[in-house]
Amino acid sequence: MRRILIVGAGQAGLQLALSLQSAGYDVTVMSARTPEEIRAGRIMSTQCMFWPQLQLERDHGLNLWEHEAPDIVAQRVTVAAPPGTAAFQTLGRWDQYAQSIDQRVKMAGWLELFEERGGNAVYHSVMTSDLEGLSALYDLTIIAAGKGELVELFDRDVSRSPYDRPQRHLSCIYLHGMTPWPGHPEPHVRITATPGVGELFFMPGYTLTGPCDILLWEAVPGGPFDCWSDRPDPAGHLDRTLDLLRQYVPWEHERVVGAEPTDARSTLYGGYAPVVRHPVGRLSASASVLGMADVVVANDPVTGQGSNNAARCAEVYLREILGHGDRPFDDAWMQRTFDAYWDYARHPTAYTNMMLGPLPDHVQKVLATAAQNETVAHRFAHGYANPADFENWLMDPERAEAYLASVTTG
Ligand SMILES: Cc1cc2nc3c(=O)[nH]c(=O)nc-3n(C[C@H](O)[C@H](O)[C@H](O)COP(=O)(O)OP(=O)(O)OC[C@H]3O[C@@H](n4cnc5c(N)ncnc54)[C@H](O)[C@@H]3O)c2cc1C
Repeated sequence: MRRILIVGAGQAGLQLALSLQSAGYDVTVMSARTPEEIRAGRIMSTQCMFWPQLQLERDHGLNLWEHEAPDIVAQRVTVAAPPGTAAFQTLGRWDQYAQSIDQRVKMAGWLELFEERGGNAVYHSVMTSDLEGLSALYDLTIIAAGKGELVELFDRDVSRSPYDRPQRHLSCIYLHGMTPWPGHPEPHVRITATPGVGELFFMPGYTLTGPCDILLWEAVPGGPFDCWSDRPDPAGHLDRTLDLLRQYVPWEHERVVGAEPTDARSTLYGGYAPVVRHPVGRLSASASVLGMADVVVANDPVTGQGSNNAARCAEVYLREILGHGDRPFDDAWMQRTFDAYWDYARHPTAYTNMMLGPLPDHVQKVLATAAQNETVAHRFAHGYANPADFENWLMDPERAEAYLASVTTG
């Protein structure tokens, strides 16, 4: 039986561990935290996942909270100009639903499931210096440790990493008691983009204490949303959020007035430079490890793709591991396996990096058209679930123009 070590118990590492376990592999997961520590810890993400990735979880029997979590059925995008004034708004209804399950709930639950099914979970924060000895005990070692220190094993791929510093400073809070959007009570994602200032996201989620609303500020560094360096506690976050809403997003203010933080660890602050890394980490002349998901492709959350990418990465790696049978997992196989994932990940990466810069004129035109045209709004919203489609129109000014002409004439 092939022995696989996975370092890191997030979306990518645990989905892969549980699906390999079901296929009869001998899997060890090393996690920096126990399930209890994860549940008692801070929120980690807004983790909105779209239906193709939710389907992967269903296929592996991992959709444990699907019936409790709200079904997110649409995406409303408002472009604000000047700040505090809504210029136009699009509403794209999705053909299937998205969901956001607090990673504290999901990762703690998946770790327990892995152990209940006989998996070996070791609770230990792995250091680079541990890896050479550890990897000798396994047929394959995969690093799925997110954006932590182990990324240093993997060189930055300069040609695929246009940014060398964070393009947004992030600040997130989970809330109970928000009031629904007037005239549209169904759970939906709402995005307000204020050019040059940043974005504000609202999305329904499911946390430790039940259904909630998740609010994320994506602040352009140095701008007025970038006011979180003192990392206020949840009550302080909410006060400041209300002030910002009053000034910059007044149409959301009233929805939040009566809300409360879900718990004492319901806030998150930070930011990171988007990066693509080379996938093979060399430990010695004869030992290498394979990076996965955020370790090798870390996008800014502005387009909500990272957990989705992690789920896709887990699926591609599963397929490549199973398909490789008993042959050695050498560097060439590792590179091919990552390349198969990059075939998918290059699309959300290109789209996300574009959305971090000044909103291109043709994208502004697409959004303005989508505000009047349901077909365009529908296609734009569905690109979040299938970013490869953006290459056929949105990523290129001429193709976007041709598409708009084809749906708005005749
Ligand atoms: C504010 C914010 C909002 C986001 N919103 C969305 C969204 O709406 N939709 C979306 O798809 N994505 C979103 N993302 C991105 C998404 O959360 C990540 O891309 C995704 O969680 C990556 O999964 P992963 O398994 O690669 O890594 P992680 O989820 O980071 O998991 C890595 C795990 O490894 C563990 N670990 C780290 N170092 C070690 C070590 N040395 N030894 C042992 N264990 C270790 C960590 O504790 C963690 O459990 C968001 C991210 C942020 C920060």
